[in-house]
Amino acid sequence: MPDIAFWNKCNNKCVMCTNEGGFALNDSAHYALRPQIEKLERWLKGQGKVYLKNDDKPDFVSLTGGEPTIHPDFFRLLAYFRLRLPGTGITLLSNGRTFADKEFARRFLKVAAPPFAVAVPVHAPAAALHDRIAGVRGAFRQTLAGLDNLFSGDGKVELEIRLVLHRLNIKSFSRLLAFLLARYPDPRRYRVTAIHYEIEGMSLANHRRLALRLKESAAALGAALPLIKRFKDFRLYHFPRCLVRPELRRLCWVTLPPEDRVYTAKCKGCRARRGCLGLMAEYHKAFGDGELRRL
Ligand code: SF4
Repeated sequence: MPDIAFWNKCNNKCVMCTNEGGFALNDSAHYALRPQIEKLERWLKGQGKVYLKNDDKPDFVSLTGGEPTIHPDFFRLLAYFRLRLPGTGITLLSNGRTFADKEFARRFLKVAAPPFAVAVPVHAPAAALHDRIAGVRGAFRQTLAGLDNLFSGDGKVELEIRLVLHRLNIKSFSRLLAFLLARYPDPRRYRVTAIHYEIEGMSLANHRRLALRLKESAAALGAALPLIKRFKDFRLYHFPRCLVRPELRRLCWVTLPPEDRVYTAKCKGCRARRGCLGLMAEYHKAFGDGELRRL
């Protein structure tokens, strides 16, 4: 699944963004309609490495940024990708704010023919903390309005709500799940993915504020187990299996490429290694492997 940076500007300033601070300062001309189409065509023809991440995995595509929905030619580019990748799963990663515009959301749901998913992060169950993490006042209200508009579709576009866990929001994790269940009570309409933050880009620059060990994150998951069970499709990204409660292990996914993760000496002979992510390489550098225990 290539990660394709649709656009390099963003209207949020998330504290745990994995982009470098300078990414948004690059010349946006590189991400304009024509160069994006040319890159996609080169990739489809197999003409060398085109995309930085997961270039060799054609099974599905992630459209990232920056914020893809503020691309000046968003709909034309999206329609082109859909046309040239028929049957390929496309996931659009968005902060959701642009979808607060009803007409934009309606148009998007029309262009984004299945298999298509849109993944939107919600950082906290209340505006003050969400906006502090997103770095923009009013982001919470707009993101929720955007989600409301996406939920008003016919369900053909899959909806995913992402919860990126770090020091600033871990204490509100259970309250966030309860908030989602109250606001979007039909768990068949969406999935929820809880993600231990990655230490990269702005997240690395802000690490003193964000630092959170996996065992603390996993403890919050354990405490929220009754709530997690109420969701039909709940996923965990970036968690080693040995750190989460046995009931949660089947929810752990391996989504990072091999070069971004490590198995340490503690993993040797582990029965759960198959299907386990191990540790994120940057996490291992920051915290070591002292929390792991062979299963
Ligand atoms: S010991 Fe290693 S392989 Fe086993 S569950 Fe933990 S991280 Fe995964």
